[in-house]
Amino acid sequence: MYLDRYEVIELPRGAKLHWILNPGLAFNELILGQRIPARDLVDQLSDAPWFDRVYVECKSCGAIHKSLLWRKALMGNWFGLVCPSCEAKIPTLLNVFSLALLIPTAPLWFPLKLIFEKRLHRMQLAIIRNTPVLPPKVQGMSLRAALAIGGVWGAVMFLFFVLVMPSLTQTDMTSQTPMAYFLAALMCAVGGVLFGLYLRWASNRRVKQIASKGS
Ligand SMILES: [Zn+2]
Repeated sequence: MYLDRYEVIELPRGAKLHWILNPGLAFNELILGQRIPARDLVDQLSDAPWFDRVYVECKSCGAIHKSLLWRKALMGNWFGLVCPSCEAKIPTLLNVFSLALLIPTAPLWFPLKLIFEKRLHRMQLAIIRNTPVLPPKVQGMSLRAALAIGGVWGAVMFLFFVLVMPSLTQTDMTSQTPMAYFLAALMCAVGGVLFGLYLRWASNRRVKQIASKGS
C-alpha cells in the first residue's frame, strides 16, 4: 500500500491550516493565482531534500506527480490545478479570506471562469510538460520585491475603499474632502509597505528554516 511509503499532509496540518487562515495568502491566491493542493504525499523512504520528495496524487487516474512540477507554473492558477496525465482537476485549498471575497463577487468572475478556465489550464499544462524540472531556488525576498508587492497591495486596498466599499455601503463619496482621500491613500500606502515587509520577513525566515533543517 503506497500510504505505507508516504506521509499524508492535509488539513488540519499546520502548513495547510496556515494557507487557509493567513489573510496575506488571499493576495497570493486572488492576485498572483497561486494555489496549493489540498493533499501532499511525502516520501518517507527517500533521502532527497524535502522539496524533491513531495508528491501530489491524482484521484482520477491514480498518477503520483512530483510537486516540483507545479513550481514551473506557480502563478496563474486562478482556476485550480489539473493533472498533467489525465487533465482532471486536483483538489486545492482555498483561503477563507479569498472565499469571503469570491462569494459576493461571483457574478464578476464566474463568466471569466467559463471563458478562460480551459485555455488557462492548457497554457499551464504546456509549461509543466515542456520545461525541465529545476530544483527550486532557495532565496529570500529582496526589499525591492517586497515593496513592489506592498505597493500593489496598498493600491488594491485603496481602490477597494474608494470604489467598492462605498457602493456596498451606499456611501456618497462626493461629499468626502480631498484630505479624507489623502488620509485613506496614506493609510493604504503604510499598510501596503508593512504587508510587503511582513511577507519579506516570513519568506526569509522560511528560507533560513529550509537551509537549516532541509524541510
Ligand atoms: Zn490524473
